[in-house]
This record gives sequence, structure tokens and C-alpha cells, in this order.
Amino acid sequence: MHRTYNDILKYILAIILSLIYSLFIIRFFLFPDDTTFSLVNAITHSKEVLLLVIIVAISFFILSIVTSYTTILRGKFKEEQEISKSLRKKNEIKTKFLAFAAHNLRTPATALRWSLNDFLKNEYVKLTKNQQGSIQSLYSISLTMINIIEDFLDISRLELQKFEISLKAISLGRLKEAIEHTIEEFTPISKEKKISIESTFDIKEELLVYIDLIQISRITENLIENAVNYSHSGSAVHVQLKNDKEFVSLSIKDAGIGIPKTEHPMIFGEFFRSSNAKKHKSTGSGIGLYIARKLIEAHDGTIFFTSEEGAGSTFTFKIPMTAEGKREVLNTFKRI
Ligand code: ADP
Repeated sequence: MHRTYNDILKYILAIILSLIYSLFIIRFFLFPDDTTFSLVNAITHSKEVLLLVIIVAISFFILSIVTSYTTILRGKFKEEQEISKSLRKKNEIKTKFLAFAAHNLRTPATALRWSLNDFLKNEYVKLTKNQQGSIQSLYSISLTMINIIEDFLDISRLELQKFEISLKAISLGRLKEAIEHTIEEFTPISKEKKISIESTFDIKEELLVYIDLIQISRITENLIENAVNYSHSGSAVHVQLKNDKEFVSLSIKDAGIGIPKTEHPMIFGEFFRSSNAKKHKSTGSGIGLYIARKLIEAHDGTIFFTSEEGAGSTFTFKIPMTAEGKREVLNTFKRI
């Protein structure tokens, strides 16, 4: 409101100044020797002069509007820039806080998970069936907690542009071992839910892929966890690793709740959870697949899925094979 009032005053001033300025020009450039020149004279004696005054005045007026408008725009632009800079700063502080909190929660959560795992293996005392069941539930909760903490750490690293992957030449045999280990980790949870996890490995173990094994294992973990979480009790999850000349691909197939067709385009979006998933399982961050896609793309690979609501889903990622015979150990860091 204040700005509009100021602008109107500026325009009125611009009109007055333009008129004075045009008269000044006409007086001294068109009638330099006429000592009797006055505005009344000019108006009554020459229509052309009057017309000229009006044209010049209008031109100056338009020029002053354009100038003042661009000044306003420049001001607004600068103001917006300052607001966005301060928002960015605030956002960065929040992200750093999230990273700090997640980082400090990870160690105790991991310690809890290992202790519970030792209990489950009967390393301290022989547990009764009921105790075993309770500890198993606690173990699942600790796993979920760790995964959420890891997701938050990843999100903050991505936002602060500090996400680095370490690419190394890894044999498919080594990748297979890592996948088997991940499946093993899920055994207590899948047992609790009465879900079996089956695996098939159709690979040439000596061939190499250029990957960050830790990150690929985490993606695998996330996909298996999703398959188990969104499956019905009594069903099976199939994990398949295979390779051809060009790619190694990992598929995780379940016969669970599936994803509604209309929501397929959003599945890899940040914080997205499908409507039926929210009903089936209230906890979940909707970050895992978003990060998985970023990571797989950083490996020059692709991740995709097929799914039918009520029938199940298959999530697959594909990563290019390292050219045969290229045995030297490359080690590259890549920032994403
Ligand atoms: P979260 O599982 O923590 O919610 P994700 O990013 O891993 O987050 O998955 C995002 C969403 O994708 C899930 O909330 C769910 O709606 C859907 N989804 C992922 N995997 C499956 C699956 N195997 N079956 C059905 N829905 C799935």
C-alpha cells in the first residue's frame, strides 16, 4: 500500500518534470532568440509547438515510468534473492541438525541391534519361546530404526552435496555373497512374518562390476525390506541376480499388496508412500526408493518396477558390466 502511494507520487513528479523539461528544450532549442517566448504564447500562436511539447512530455513520461518500473523490479529481484538466500541458510542449518541428530543416533541404535542379535542367537541365556518372540520384535524395530536413521543421513548428505560413493571393481561372486548376507539379516523378520525369501543366482562369478558394494547392499536391503513389509503372511519373496554381457541385474519379486496404477509415476519421489502402503504399514519414510534411484543412476544404471495392486511387485535394478578382461582395480570417488 505504502509502495503504491509512493509510486503515484513519483509518477506525478515525473509528469511535472517531463513538462518542464520539454518546455525548457523547446524554449532554448527551437526559439533560442525569442525573448518574448512564454507557454501562453506558444499555445496560442502555434499548435505545432503545443503538439511538440505534448509529444516530448509523453516520451519523457514513458521513459520515466519504464525507468522507475525497472528500478522497482530490480528492488524486488534483490529482495527475493535475499529472502531465498536466508531461506537456503535456514534450510542448511536444519539439514545440518538432521545430519547431526541422525549421526548420533546411529551408534546406539546399531549397538542395540547387535546386542539383540546376540540374544536371539542364545549367546547369553537360553530364551523361552515367548522371550524369543519379544526379542525378535525388538530386533525388527531396531532394524527399522537404523534404516530410517540411515535414510535421514543420506537425505542430509544429498542436500549438503556431500554424498560420495566409492566405485571399485567387484566380482559378481563377491556381490552374490553380499546379497546372501543381506538375506540372512532379514531371516528373523521374515520368519516372524512367516514369509520365505528364496534366491537364484544366475551369474558368472569371476566377472566384474564397477560398484560401491556398501551402497548396493543398502539398496538391496531396502528392496528386500519393502518386499517383506508389503507382503502378506505366508507368501514368498524371490531374489534373483543374473548377468548377461552388458548388465548385471537384481530383481526382488513379491506377491504382496502391489501399488495402485495411478501412483506408479510418484514411487521414486521424495517422501512418497502409496495410499495402500500407508494403510498396510503406518511406519515408513518414503525416502528409500528416492535415494536408491539417485545411487543407481550414479552407477550409470537404471531402477524400475512392475506392479499390480493386490497381486504384487517386482523391483529391478541394472548396472553395466565392466568390460571383460579389464582386471585392474579402479577406485574412484564420485560425488552425487
Ligand atoms: P518406505 O518403504 O519407507 O515407505 P520407500 O522409499 O522404500 O519408503 O518406498 C516408497 C513407497 O513405495 C512405499 O511407501 C510403498 O508405497 C511403495 N513400495 C515400495 N516397495 C514396495 C513393494 N514391494 N510393494 C508395494 N509397495 C511398495
